Amino acid sequence: MTDSLTGRVTLVTGGGKGIGKAIALALAEAGADVAICARKMAELEPVAEAVRAKGRRAFATACDVTDAEQVSRLPAAVGEALGPIDILVNNAGASESHKFVGHPDDLWARMLEINLTSVYRVCKAVVPGMVERKWGRIITIASISSKVGARYVAAYTASKHGVLGLMRALAVELNPYHITVNAICPGYVDTPMTDANVANMIARTGKSEAEVRKILEATSPQNRLITPDEVAAVAVMLAGESARGITAQAINVDGGTLTY
Ligand code: NDP
Repeated sequence: MTDSLTGRVTLVTGGGKGIGKAIALALAEAGADVAICARKMAELEPVAEAVRAKGRRAFATACDVTDAEQVSRLPAAVGEALGPIDILVNNAGASESHKFVGHPDDLWARMLEINLTSVYRVCKAVVPGMVERKWGRIITIASISSKVGARYVAAYTASKHGVLGLMRALAVELNPYHITVNAICPGYVDTPMTDANVANMIARTGKSEAEVRKILEATSPQNRLITPDEVAAVAVMLAGESARGITAQAINVDGGTLTY
């Protein structure tokens, strides 16, 4: 049984599609009111509607999490619409690949910015309110790339290792305030991001879509992609009161690809 999240206010970054959308809907299903942000309002609005259809309050706002000024306005905007943020899900992220020889510096900067610095920035904006109220949940969608290396993804891997370090440090520092801080580390998930990766691999290798998808599926001992709902279920579990003893953890949702 999952805990009820009734009365909790959540913010999910990147809530317009993929894993973020699944998490927003699952949190609403568990009773929470849900704020979502991303750059494209057009993708956020249907998600907010779906939250309302579950009988919960929703707030959708355009926010580029790489923009410090826009992020600084987030807590007040969510606060005004729904109330203070109890549960923060750092989900917005991006993945680009390149071989290391000739690696573009701007790709490195983009990956660090969106997957690491933006999480620092959103936490910096949201955590003071949690500290004041002495309760909070911070859940970050990291990756198995937070724990292992792979070819052609030096920048993504560095950014995802970095965000795990940030989560572990915050977990220790915020523990006295009843704020838990955890990461979820998925393997390949069936989302628009993976569709884009598949398209990339097709362009680079000339393989068919079916061949490329098989390669991705074979990275898991379960020979399949993870669904966004599987990741969302873990986020809901971590958001509940019963999970108060779980902090500083990096939970793999990868079909057993990693054994630690
Ligand atoms: P998608 O690309 O499908 O969705 C990403 C979401 O983040 C979109 O809503 C997008 O909206 C938003 N976003 C991207 N950039 C920004 C930005 N600068 N500011 C605000 N919002 C932004 O990704 P997934 O759902 O696949 O991935 C979600 C998270 O899970 C990421 O952190 C990713 O690294 C991680 N992950 C994904 C895996 C996978 O296989 N898919 C595996 C492991 C981890 P918009 O473009 O409108 O801003």
